[in-house]
Amino acid sequence: MKVEDVVCPFCGCLCDDLVVEVENNRVTSVENGCTLANEKLMEDHRLKNPIRRERGSWKDVSYDAAIQETAEILLDADRPLLYGWSGTHGEAQSVGVHLAELLGAVIDNTSTVCHGPSILAIQEVGHPGCTLGQVKNRADVIVYWGANPIDAHPRHMSRYTTYADGFFVKDAFKERKVIVIDVRKTESSAVANEFVKVDQGGDYAVLSALRAIVRGKGDLIPVKVAGVTREQLFRVADICKNAKFGAIFFGLGLTMSPGKNKNIRNAIELTEELNRHTKFTISPMRGHWNVYGSNEVFTWISGYPYAVDFARGIAFYNPGETTSVDILRRGECDACLVVASDPGAHFPRACAEHLARIPTVQIDPHVNATTHLATLQIPVAVTGIDAEGTAYRMDGVPIRTRKLYEGTYPSDLEILGKIYARVKEAKGS
Ligand code: SF4
Repeated sequence: MKVEDVVCPFCGCLCDDLVVEVENNRVTSVENGCTLANEKLMEDHRLKNPIRRERGSWKDVSYDAAIQETAEILLDADRPLLYGWSGTHGEAQSVGVHLAELLGAVIDNTSTVCHGPSILAIQEVGHPGCTLGQVKNRADVIVYWGANPIDAHPRHMSRYTTYADGFFVKDAFKERKVIVIDVRKTESSAVANEFVKVDQGGDYAVLSALRAIVRGKGDLIPVKVAGVTREQLFRVADICKNAKFGAIFFGLGLTMSPGKNKNIRNAIELTEELNRHTKFTISPMRGHWNVYGSNEVFTWISGYPYAVDFARGIAFYNPGETTSVDILRRGECDACLVVASDPGAHFPRACAEHLARIPTVQIDPHVNATTHLATLQIPVAVTGIDAEGTAYRMDGVPIRTRKLYEGTYPSDLEILGKIYARVKEAKGS
C-alpha cells in the first residue's frame, strides 16, 4: 500500500510530503525523506513487550501489570518527576500534565536541555518570528547562527531556505544570501555565501557588535570582536540591512554556549534593530519533532512551557530550581516517569546515576540508554507510524501526524490514560 503526504516524526521540520510503501505492518520504502526519516520510518528494532528489572535481569510482564506498577510507583513517591514528552503527540502530553497535577509532581520536557534559554529570552523581550512558509516565499537573506541544518534538520535548506524557490524568490540558490555563524566550519557553512567564525563563547560579543553597527555606532567597534574582523562584521550588517526580508535561525550553539538566554535576548534585540531598516525575523531550530508541542500543551494547561512543579497544588515555574537536571542533580525526586525521550543519553552523569537509584519507568518503543537505568519499560506505538496525533512544527504550526497501519502496540495516549485512571481511582478523586 502506498501512503502519500506522510508527516515525518523525526525533527522539528515535520516534513509533510513523504510517500511511503507499507507491507505487512512495516514501512518498506520512503520517498522524499532524508536519511534520518528513512531510518526512523523503516526501523524494526522495537521492544516486544513490557519488561521489569528483577535481581539484575529483565523479566517480561503484561501491559496491565506494568501499568498498575507504574501507578503504584508514582502514588508511593513524595516527589515524582515526569520527564520527556517531546517525542509524543499533544494528546498524550495533555494527559501527562493532568497526571502531574493529580500527583503534585514536577513535569518537564526536553526544552530543559535545548531551547529552554530561548523561551526565557522570549518571555523577556518577545518573539519576532514567522512561519517557514513566509521564509520560503519571501526571505532573501538567511542567517544560521549556532546551527548546522544539513546535519540536524537535513531538509530545512531544501524546503525553506538555500534551495527552496518561493513566490518572491524565483531562483533561490542565486537570489538568496546565506550567512552561517558558528564556532567551526560545518557542512552548512560550506554552502553559505558568508561564513563567520566566532571564537568559542564569543557569540554575545559578536551579537552586540552587530547591534552597534546596525544602530550606527560602528565607530566603537575594535579591529576584531571574538575572532571576527571589523570588515566582516560591517559586511554582514550591510547584507542584513539591505535584505528585503531576512530570517535568522539559531540552534543549540547559541542557546547552550556561554551567555545562554542572554545570547538569545541579544539576538532578538538585533532582530528588532534590523527591523528599523527592513523586515527581519528570528526562529529557533527546534530539534525533537514535537518539542514545540510540549511547550504549547504545557502552557495551555498550566500557564508555563516547561519545568512545572505542582507540589504546592498550583503550577509553579522556576527554571534552575524546578528543571529536571537540577532536581535530579540534587537527588530530590524519588520516582521518575520518562516518556518519549532519552535522559540516560543526554543528562549529566550525576542525574543518570540518580535515575538508576530511584524507581524509573520508561514509556518508549525502543531500548535506549535510559533502559539501562530503568526499573520498568513499557513499549508503545510510534506516533506517525502506528499511532496518530497532533504535533507542532518548529514555527508553531500544528500538523496532524498519521497512522500508516493498524499495529499491535498501544499508543502513549492509551497507556498514559490508563495510568491516569488508576492514580485517580486510588486518590478517590
Ligand atoms: S528534515 Fe526532519 S522532518 Fe524532514 S524528513 Fe528529515 S528528519 Fe524528517
